[in-house]
Amino acid sequence: MSDVLVIGGGVIGCGIAHALTTRGAEVTLVDPGTVGGGASRASAGMLAPFSEGRHHLALQALGALSLSRYDALVHALVDEGWRVPYTRTGSIEVAFDAAGATALDGVAAALARDRIACERLDRPSLLALEPAVSTDAVAGLRILAHGAVDVPALVSALWRSAASRGARLVQSRAHRISSTTSEVRVDTGVGSFKASRVVLAAGCWAGQVDVDGVAPLPVQPVRGQLLALRTESPALDHTLWGPDCYLVPWADGTMLVGATVEHVGFDQRATAAGVRQLLQAATALLPPVADAAFLEVRVGLRPATLDELPIVGASQRVDGLIYATGHYRNGALLMPLTAEAVAELVGGTPLDPIWAPCDPQRFGSY
Ligand SMILES: Cc1cc2nc3c(=O)[nH]c(=O)nc-3n(C[C@H](O)[C@H](O)[C@H](O)COP(=O)(O)OP(=O)(O)OC[C@H]3O[C@@H](n4cnc5c(N)ncnc54)[C@H](O)[C@@H]3O)c2cc1C
Repeated sequence: MSDVLVIGGGVIGCGIAHALTTRGAEVTLVDPGTVGGGASRASAGMLAPFSEGRHHLALQALGALSLSRYDALVHALVDEGWRVPYTRTGSIEVAFDAAGATALDGVAAALARDRIACERLDRPSLLALEPAVSTDAVAGLRILAHGAVDVPALVSALWRSAASRGARLVQSRAHRISSTTSEVRVDTGVGSFKASRVVLAAGCWAGQVDVDGVAPLPVQPVRGQLLALRTESPALDHTLWGPDCYLVPWADGTMLVGATVEHVGFDQRATAAGVRQLLQAATALLPPVADAAFLEVRVGLRPATLDELPIVGASQRVDGLIYATGHYRNGALLMPLTAEAVAELVGGTPLDPIWAPCDPQRFGSY
């Protein structure tokens, strides 16, 4: 396979580098920071297409297919000796009033029609499954297929696996992409590189990379703050979704509380208001959280597009350039399918029609 330069070392860029090197490609990754230092560092890692994609059938279809690739990907990484915490214990959405419970009935009926395994829980069965949940809860909906992955560990495993197959890192910012007669040229802070294919996977910064004669990609940052807490032993068996936050438990007692959704440009500060909002929502959902140790607050800028679908596909303006960004709230979920799609494009196979809604051309001439 040909040589490929990947711009951006988040979960998407590292997933692509990994998929390409397993297929024999020579890969160079360009990132000015540490691998996994962007939005991926703050990701809660929920793999939840039937909650996140509920209002977007294209997203749900992509997410469900991507989720079906997770077992094999994680097992392959673990077999190589990398550590990737990953669970498929399901999620529970919790309602606190009659209107919320009725909404869960509707969701349960829709999932049942699509043959997605789920269980509508009354209050006693909810509390039997998750005894620490607030006694103000009135109902729940358990979705069995959902899972979670430790994203920083996953990104590290993907990158180290790719590096073990020869991928190399250029620690610099890519400024400009242009085409020559036979290759694509990328200007970086440490010089210019040429490759037969270039993948732009720079998350919310993708629009800041100047592509010869092409308008900036319409990807905007949406800040998310997420807390990491620690309880003596795991306080939950499932990922829990409440009205104002979600909780992701890990076997070592770590619990992630997410997340704020803030339109504040490229401001990556953690704020007192963000932390207060998450702590209030978490203690309302799971009162024992009040006694948890506070580990840290993580901040990430989600790469958002106007229709909240990613931008994945070949450029029509620059031969050899492929876009893979805009994964907004679902980059961890969509990574395996995105990486597979980009690797196939590089190998000359056109994208599966499931990707049609993510065509870069829907936003103009790219
Ligand atoms: C709080 C929070 C919770 C989330 N929870 C979930 C979840 O539960 N499930 C889920 O699926 N998703 C979740 N997400 C979304 C997910 O984290 C993102 O969709 C994903 O991380 C995007 O990955 P990326 O690789 O595209 O971008 P990033 O991780 O941001 O990586 C982009 C990389 O590009 C590099 N870069 C920037 N500019 C340049 C340049 N000019 N040249 C070279 N490199 C450059 C950056 O340094 C960075 O390393 C969450 C996000 C946040 C913030």
